[in-house]
Amino acid sequence: MLEDLYQELIIDHGTQPRNKREIENCSCQAKGHNPLCGDKISVFLKVDNNKIIDAAFIGEGCAISMASASIMSEALKDINKDDAIALMNKFTSCLTKDENSDQLPMKLQALAGVKQYPMRVKCATLAWHTFKAALNNNDAVASTE
Ligand code: ZN
Repeated sequence: MLEDLYQELIIDHGTQPRNKREIENCSCQAKGHNPLCGDKISVFLKVDNNKIIDAAFIGEGCAISMASASIMSEALKDINKDDAIALMNKFTSCLTKDENSDQLPMKLQALAGVKQYPMRVKCATLAWHTFKAALNNNDAVASTE
């Protein structure tokens, strides 16, 4: 069931990424690079009163990296920064520490299925690491490259 959803999500979000755009006057942004696969993305956030009111990205990479950034941009919208960081920690722990993914939103649970393909885990976590880098440089323009 989750495996079918995983395939669907990668195809759907990978071929038609949501929020693939720049945000003018964003609060913060960062660039991320996954040299293992060649994925490159920039994440843009608009934050107001600790709440993420808009999240978007641009970049080029494999279907998994694009799908992950797309799903992330949807998951981050309209939640507060602390919840977003908690979500990131939970998602990346599921991929790298084999933590149970039951408490994640359904799409992220499905995406966490990528852990069956260890070579692709960094493709799926790139967007989230870039998001965190952006947030850590709040109100500034930063690059993690
Ligand atoms: Zn990749």
